[in-house]
Amino acid sequence: MNDDAYDKGTVAITERDFPLGRDSFDPASEPTAWLWQRVLEVLGAERKQISARPVSAPVDLGRLRSAVGSYDFDEPAKPGVVIDELVALLRESTVHTTHPRYFGLFNPTPTLLGVVGETLAAAFNPQLAAWSHAPAAVEIEMHLLRFLGGRMGYPADEVAGSFTSGGAEANLTAVLLALTRMWPEYGTAGLRALPGRPVLYASAESHLAWLKIAHATGIGRDAVRLVPVDAGLRMDLEHLRAQLDADRDAGDEPFMVVGTAGTTGAGVIDPLPELAELCREFGIRFHVDAAYGGAAVVSDRLRGALTGIEQAHSITVDAHKWLSVPMGAGALLCTDGEGLAETFRVSTSYMPADIPDTVDPYTTSQQWSRRFMGLKLFLSLAVAGRSGYAEQLERDAELADFLRRRLVDSGWRIANDTPLPVVCFADPEADALSTSESWAHHTALAQSVVQSGRAWISPVRLNGHAALRACVISHRTTPEDIDELVNAVNEAQRAARPPAAR
Ligand SMILES: *Cc1c(COP(=O)(O)O)cnc(C)c1O
Repeated sequence: MNDDAYDKGTVAITERDFPLGRDSFDPASEPTAWLWQRVLEVLGAERKQISARPVSAPVDLGRLRSAVGSYDFDEPAKPGVVIDELVALLRESTVHTTHPRYFGLFNPTPTLLGVVGETLAAAFNPQLAAWSHAPAAVEIEMHLLRFLGGRMGYPADEVAGSFTSGGAEANLTAVLLALTRMWPEYGTAGLRALPGRPVLYASAESHLAWLKIAHATGIGRDAVRLVPVDAGLRMDLEHLRAQLDADRDAGDEPFMVVGTAGTTGAGVIDPLPELAELCREFGIRFHVDAAYGGAAVVSDRLRGALTGIEQAHSITVDAHKWLSVPMGAGALLCTDGEGLAETFRVSTSYMPADIPDTVDPYTTSQQWSRRFMGLKLFLSLAVAGRSGYAEQLERDAELADFLRRRLVDSGWRIANDTPLPVVCFADPEADALSTSESWAHHTALAQSVVQSGRAWISPVRLNGHAALRACVISHRTTPEDIDELVNAVNEAQRAARPPAAR
């Protein structure tokens, strides 16, 4: 079907045949084919038109609410009509993370095979709580976890772990595992049985999911030490050591240090080997939060940046970030299958009995009923091959280098240092401003770029200093898109000279 026919709505003729009501749940083959054709047309048009559309547009909240609210679900509605209306809402009121000029928060343009995998997983709907209900799905996921763990540097046949809803759940899993391993009594008697307050360390540039995790696990938000960073935005080892000593002296119980491999703000990688060494010295757990940066292990060229990650007790990596599968798919990797089993142990009469040499995911992870998250990654990896993935990741890194050069040529200052494609840059003209004025200035620049619809970037505070942040993450991004971004920020800067420079 060509776009013209779609635009004129002429393909909707066969919609007459589509059954409504409960008959729509599983229609006979012809209406089904018509519906898939419809979806393909939507996706085809989306792919063709996306780069000509604004990356984001202002939201008319009243209109959005009334369009959504117009559905009272009393009467069945024609699927083509509903799809058209909802797709229109999605097009209008979404920050288009699949746009080639979305330089945002680690949200990728999903791979085609990832979308196909998501569809197949939804249709087969295997229940991954118990191995016996979904042997193929569980084995597919375990194979992937061993692949990822092996690339991280774990002995592949010792890898244990689970797919999670995302990085936040994977990090939560790491804390539960650490508490259980450090204090076996934690699981039954709770935190009150511990000799002191467990304290967790992450850098001031780490992802703040740690605060929610501290809240949820009962160690409390005050038990998260956000360790200052050095000039390179990496966790400062001297500060860390001093804090560990001080906490021990005060009777607290340091139990886990988090190294971030790819900070959310600046894509910076903490000094992993040194952190591993320090954790050994203190006899505490070492976790690496590589939610974004972990993907780099797929590339032989980029992988060296994560050296030391193999020494971590546990690793978080998100497939829905730089591995570009649709949300949500995170993973917790470790080599301590027994520890996971101890952390999430439970046995019930209504769950299928265990089968020798297999693991029931519900006994080694936070979730119970669980969707098949691994299929979209498996299909994407199998079809692109590791080499195809590596090529894409390296290309992103090269585009980021190109962006850095273009920005420097235009007079911007690069504000972070990382091999990953996260580019933070500051306006030197704002150097004379106060911290809050500089923040206001950079925020206004980002807003002006976003409002133009030409690109999506964000303001960021790095160790207190304001900057702009652009992450190259879409496989659709080209050098021309980088040029367009640079033009957009340059024009925004010209239009909004900071007060001191006027
Ligand atoms: C994105 C991110 C998280 C949170 O992961 P979700 O997938 O959003 O749950 C945690 N840590 C880091 C470093 C991240 O980049």
